[in-house]
Amino acid sequence: MDQAERRAQLIAHLEERGTLHSQRVAQVMRAVPRELFVPRYLTHRAYEDAPIPIGHGQTISAPHMVAIMTEALELGPGQRVLEVGTGSGYQAAILSRLVEPGGRVATVERIGQLAERARSALLSCGAANVTVFHDDGSRGRPAAGPFDRIVVTAAAPRLPPPLLEQVAPGGILLAPVGARACDLIRARRTATGWKEENLGACAFVPLKGEFGQPA
Ligand code: SAM
Repeated sequence: MDQAERRAQLIAHLEERGTLHSQRVAQVMRAVPRELFVPRYLTHRAYEDAPIPIGHGQTISAPHMVAIMTEALELGPGQRVLEVGTGSGYQAAILSRLVEPGGRVATVERIGQLAERARSALLSCGAANVTVFHDDGSRGRPAAGPFDRIVVTAAAPRLPPPLLEQVAPGGILLAPVGARACDLIRARRTATGWKEENLGACAFVPLKGEFGQPA
């Protein structure tokens, strides 16, 4: 079986389980080659539904978690998205296609070598509307906001206040909140405040930085 067949099989499995429920997200996950975002010596594991080490103690999230988070973001063309925790760049590549045409993705990674590798993987899969920044993303990117969607892909002790401030009216902040075992929280900015939903338990590496886990 080649990588494209393995990818199609994984996406079909996520659809059968109900993890993927929108045609658009499934179509995009079927089109983005996850093998471009995992270390070369692990490409044979690219279509396991599991996190895979990417170096520096970090991981590319499991495909089912990418599917859950992407569905929860309710993405559409033209949106401005901020991702905190670029890691391999795979989630950013998925976001990139879902905001086309006209949308843009800014993604922030605190580990320089990962940011560099993600930049080249994103280039090689043609994600021209993504910019990778090497910085502490727990502070967001105030100069570039507000954003229609902000997604954090590391466990934060609470919803980081600067990220809440950078969500546009009607927008969404999605973040795992807690310690390594955490809850996926979706906060929607409404006309009168915030509506928070707990989308279930999950496990993530810690968010570091000024508004991350205490050292
Ligand atoms: N979204 C990624 C992907 O598609 O591969 C997976 C992200 S990995 C689970 C979490 C990432 O968040 C790690 O690469 C880690 O270095 C990064 N991270 C942790 N704290 C951060 C911070 N304050 N700012 C930016 N990145 C951070």
